[in-house]
Amino acid sequence: MQVAAKLEEINRKIEHACLKSNRSIEEITLIGVTKYVTIERTEEAIQAGVHHIGENRLEGFREKYDHFQGMDLKWHFIGTLQSRKVKDIIHQVDVIHSLDRLSLAKEINKRAQQTVDCFIQVNVSKEESKHGLSPEEVLPFLEKLRDHQKIQVVGLMTMAPHTEDETVVRQVFKRLAELKEQVQEKGYEHAPCTYLSMGMSNDYEVAIEEGATHIRIGSKLVG
Ligand SMILES: *Cc1c(COP(=O)(O)O)cnc(C)c1O
Repeated sequence: MQVAAKLEEINRKIEHACLKSNRSIEEITLIGVTKYVTIERTEEAIQAGVHHIGENRLEGFREKYDHFQGMDLKWHFIGTLQSRKVKDIIHQVDVIHSLDRLSLAKEINKRAQQTVDCFIQVNVSKEESKHGLSPEEVLPFLEKLRDHQKIQVVGLMTMAPHTEDETVVRQVFKRLAELKEQVQEKGYEHAPCTYLSMGMSNDYEVAIEEGATHIRIGSKLVG
């Protein structure tokens, strides 16, 4: 199916989820995750109106970034980032969704020329296979980030467990939203933490109902 048709379907569902939860569609940023697909398919998504591109691996990120350079796009790095690879994307990336440790923060801070918007990745469901800080670690981590001037924590990011059980998924999103409130109460200058990056192909409607501002959609959009 054409990306444009899939996008239309997704936009309809976003609208529905917003209506249901009394939110405005303006609050939602759709990130097209192109990690599975070619340059051609990515271009189709861009033509259809996707302006935020997400990649989870350095190679894919660079390949697409280099190809579409000069276009009015925002580039999101959503995967695990090795500290030694920071230098290879730091001047290209607009937003990093996977800040999860101090060593990575230090490397970003050292390499960046201007402030980088970062989401802290939180492993709400505490699955072994998932990266991210546990919820309890987030506030202490933010304290340690204070003196890293190039890092602006714009929000929190999580991935829900892969399950059909919507209650479980919803609980995870609720917990992240609560945590975001807690961070905001601190009034940190380096961590305004206004956004929630949560929701993928299988759970973005629930995520929106629970406050997501950035949804990351791959398979249902370009797959
Ligand atoms: C792959 C990926 C997505 C998109 O997943 P889909 O289920 O294909 O929508 C979103 N976020 C992250 C971090 C990913 O790695």
